[in-house]
Amino acid sequence: MMYKVIHTALDILFPPHCAGCGSASQALCASCARATAYLGKECFFCAGPAEKNNICGQCSRNHDFESIIWLWRYQNEKARTIIAAYKYKRKSALALPLARLLSQKLREHNIPRDIVVIPVPLHKNKERERGFNQAALIAKNLGLYSLSTVAVRLKETSPQAWTESRRERFKHMENVFLITRPETVQNKDILIIDDVATTGATLSELARVLKKAGAAKIYAAVLAHG
Ligand SMILES: [Zn+2]
Ligand SMILES: [Zn+2]
Repeated sequence: MMYKVIHTALDILFPPHCAGCGSASQALCASCARATAYLGKECFFCAGPAEKNNICGQCSRNHDFESIIWLWRYQNEKARTIIAAYKYKRKSALALPLARLLSQKLREHNIPRDIVVIPVPLHKNKERERGFNQAALIAKNLGLYSLSTVAVRLKETSPQAWTESRRERFKHMENVFLITRPETVQNKDILIIDDVATTGATLSELARVLKKAGAAKIYAAVLAHG
């Protein structure tokens, strides 16, 4: 609570500057939003051509998603700077502008609005250490119905997972998530939210347990796809 008060006070004392370029304007200026925008149409999993929902016909047979949306490529340096600022320095200033950008993207892709938004959970130790869950805060600001405590993370996954092969990384995610109240997702369409997704192992594992709990269609949206 104190943290929140101090941050709000800081925003008043020091007017917002853009997390992408430092210009004194908004927390995220329109020109940085344009400069980082990803406009391609490729498959999330194999980077092959995918016209409609960012998953090609081949990959859609092996995954649970109707569609996966991402705002930025993680390779975009400015996008990485903005995400780091959001996670480590300026959560209160950036959560809403980031959620608005993502929300616009969801509309462009015709993602249904009658949906349950579920952020990828952090392990409780990690959340305590960071002070907040970056995915849950975006989810809350989307203006849709969101449930941030239904999915729980049972295991911390180590940062070394980045160096693992795709197969190892998928293996690593087994039994990471638990759905605490399956009745809240049964027969519901779900939108999973995260900040960054690389191979999609985390998203896929959460989608798998949600399906197992009885969820209907699964969509996912992330700020950046690496
Ligand atoms: Zn800017
Ligand atoms: Zn594909």
